[in-house]
Amino acid sequence: MAKIGFIGLGNMGAPMALNLKKAGHDVSGFDAVEAARKTAAGQGISIAGSNAEAATGADIVILMLPNGEISRAVAAEVVPSMDEGSLLIDCSTIDVASARAVHDLAGKAGILCLDAPVSGGVGGAAAGTLTFMVGGSAEAFEKGSPLFEVMGQKAVHCGDGGAGQSAKICNNMLLGISMIGACEAFSLAEKLGLSQQALFDVVSTSSGSCWSVNAYCPVPGVGPQSPADNGYKPGFAAALMLKDLLLSQQAAGESGASTPLGQHASQLYQAMVDAGNGGTDFSGMIEFLKSGAVK
Ligand code: NAD
Repeated sequence: MAKIGFIGLGNMGAPMALNLKKAGHDVSGFDAVEAARKTAAGQGISIAGSNAEAATGADIVILMLPNGEISRAVAAEVVPSMDEGSLLIDCSTIDVASARAVHDLAGKAGILCLDAPVSGGVGGAAAGTLTFMVGGSAEAFEKGSPLFEVMGQKAVHCGDGGAGQSAKICNNMLLGISMIGACEAFSLAEKLGLSQQALFDVVSTSSGSCWSVNAYCPVPGVGPQSPADNGYKPGFAAALMLKDLLLSQQAAGESGASTPLGQHASQLYQAMVDAGNGGTDFSGMIEFLKSGAVK
């Protein structure tokens, strides 16, 4: 069993750390916020005195933090405490440039590194059913795989450092765009007097089919259960979708990719969040469009 330092014991990090502990690993955690430390301690996770202390002597250090700036800062704190040949895994969703900077920092100290953002949300973190999108060397991926098996149900090795973050933001840009497309199609159908069920039955078995319609339909009472059937309680909050879309646009700007629909999707989710709907599921975009807030 591995000695693990787990940094960032928030909504995602705490249940992930707990699953590792339940699987028999020796987990030492830390979070900058006292309330998060207390909650995690109450669940049986041992709490270190600092980020550096949680990393000292660890075989593997995992980060689950809010953004790239914080990941870079915490990596700079923990790398000097880590042993050569140990592994740093950053599971936070961050910009590709920061992910590569963390890889560089670790590599210079002889530490293996993976960027490994997740899909599956808080429910997946608690159930241990996350999907990991992973960037880094084959050696690092092999060392991290037993932990991915505990915390998730699938880990895809996407390529070198930064490839995991790249996969995550490309996927979520496509998801944001396709959800807005689904919302527009169902809104237009309603105005045309076409039943929502009829449109679902056609689209879900035709060339317009996509995950946003087939598995996560933004209309209540149609298709499999989704947040639409639960008053648009997340699920995946609009604010988190906006975060990922903005990361996609940062990456598009830095790499010179043309993503006009990604840009438009970012603007629409920005407007939805600015109107006070950041905590609504991202499929609630249909209600936002129907409200007439966007001309
Ligand atoms: P969160 O805000 O609940 O947790 C982040 C934790 O990091 C907080 O407890 C915070 O106190 C801690 N932290 C911040 N700065 C720190 C520092 N310098 N040192 C130590 N701890 C520090 O966020 P979350 O929902 O757990 O998300 C974590 C990451 O996972 C984010 O990058 C997010 O985009 C990504 N993610 C979240 C979800 C989701 O559904 N919540 C889904 C997929 C991916």
